[in-house]
Amino acid sequence: MPEMTDMEVQEQLKKMLVESKAWLEGHFKLTSGRHSGNYMQCAMLLRFPKYAAFAGGEIAKRIAHLKPDFIVSPALGGLIIGHEVARALDVPFLFCERQDGAMTLRRFPMPVGKTFVAVEDVVTTGGSVKETAEHMIAGGCKWVGSACIVDRSGGTQQLGPDLVSLFKVSFATYDPDDCPLCRELGTPPIKPGSRPDKK
Ligand SMILES: [Zn+2]
Repeated sequence: MPEMTDMEVQEQLKKMLVESKAWLEGHFKLTSGRHSGNYMQCAMLLRFPKYAAFAGGEIAKRIAHLKPDFIVSPALGGLIIGHEVARALDVPFLFCERQDGAMTLRRFPMPVGKTFVAVEDVVTTGGSVKETAEHMIAGGCKWVGSACIVDRSGGTQQLGPDLVSLFKVSFATYDPDDCPLCRELGTPPIKPGSRPDKK
């Protein structure tokens, strides 16, 4: 099969996000309390291993030139995709998790002197990725790159221009007292995840 262009990968991924119901369009109440016409839950995409493998393989192609010694992800969001990227590159996969509020490499020895790429499913501010990377740097590792499936930052993430992503999107959110969807639709927003998924 010929290599897919970035645009084709983006189209393919969009189809997968919609088909897996990871990306919903409608009228939603977010955890923050704000309303939005879009909702994305990447775990819904990654529950299908073939989609996870596709995304992991495409990220791997884009970071292979960095030649990382290992991949590290912040738990929980980065676990599945980080593992898929590491599998495609045939390097170890490690993860950090919160312990007493701080991202910590709890279950593995620190690979001192080795290089890593930090991988996350969705980046908004980039906070968890940055925290994970800083923990690894403090342990003596070298940060050579960052990657995610979906960059939702709208260019405001703190990871610099080197963040590799397969899909860039930013959704408008609205104050619940001034929501155009409430006005247009006249119906209250749905809280995602509160209704059973028939698929
Ligand atoms: Zn609304």
